[in-house]
Amino acid sequence: MFGNKDKTRECPSCALEAPADAEECPYCQYEFPPEQKGTTIMAWVFVILIILWLITRL
Ligand SMILES: [Zn+2]
Repeated sequence: MFGNKDKTRECPSCALEAPADAEECPYCQYEFPPEQKGTTIMAWVFVILIILWLITRL
């Protein structure tokens, strides 16, 4: 029952396990801050910039 498909995250408000893709906690209606996607996009932009920098240096 601990597979990677059923991801959960701990609610910082009530400390209960909420679904990872839920926008708010189903128990206390705490709204999760949507910061993970932005971090992922920034990481990809950073990687692409490094690759471009390496190509232009060749
Ligand atoms: Zn909660």
